[in-house]
Amino acid sequence: MEVQENLKGINKAIIQACNRANRDPKDIKIIAVTKYVSVERAAEALEAGIVNLGENRDEGLNAKWEVLKNKPTWHFIGSLQSRKVKNMIDKVDCIHSLDRISLAKEIDKRADKNIDCLVQVNVSGEESKQGLEPEAVIDFVQAMKAFPNIRVIGLMTMAPYTQDENMLRSCFKRLKAIQEEVNELKLPFAPCTELSMGMSNDFQIAIEEGATMVRIGTALVGNELQGG
Ligand SMILES: *Cc1c(COP(=O)(O)O)cnc(C)c1O
Repeated sequence: MEVQENLKGINKAIIQACNRANRDPKDIKIIAVTKYVSVERAAEALEAGIVNLGENRDEGLNAKWEVLKNKPTWHFIGSLQSRKVKNMIDKVDCIHSLDRISLAKEIDKRADKNIDCLVQVNVSGEESKQGLEPEAVIDFVQAMKAFPNIRVIGLMTMAPYTQDENMLRSCFKRLKAIQEEVNELKLPFAPCTELSMGMSNDFQIAIEEGATMVRIGTALVGNELQGG
């Protein structure tokens, strides 16, 4: 597993997707999802030029943080239990899974600085997926006014695991449309410029539909802890 080789291929694919969509590749941030790999592999990603690491559990974040400290920008991408917030809030730069008021309250209470958050939306409506219903997003974002430590910098979604390109596209388009609705409100605490969407199997399509953050695990760093 050569992270550097993988990154080359991914960068190429990002450029191609940007060309198709008339976008600037500089506007795309790669979040290397290291939840299934060792700290050594995560360090290899940083050496290859990755800046952003994503973890989905407080244990995984803490274990890697012990070694890598503030070298990367840390993203939390998994469902987050309120009682876990205090274990990770001082190590994380960006939380992609804000999806309920009680969690916002806890983040606001425990943070001693502004935390960049993305509101997770369950666009596909799959029961197994976290996130707000699309119809609930506007009210939810407006309610963030009560929490001075929370800055809503964008929206996040997980598309269904499918090869059906039309289904993926419509999911990403819907998130983009909700983002535009949020931005029409011009809320000072919700500069909603980011769209976190796209993973190993669908990041090119997500970029064509407006993604600014792609969360890539398997295709970039592999999944060695899962036997891959
Ligand atoms: C695991 C995970 C990813 C990365 O998935 P890959 O298919 O390995 O790229 C992205 N986003 C979230 C929320 C994840 O949990």
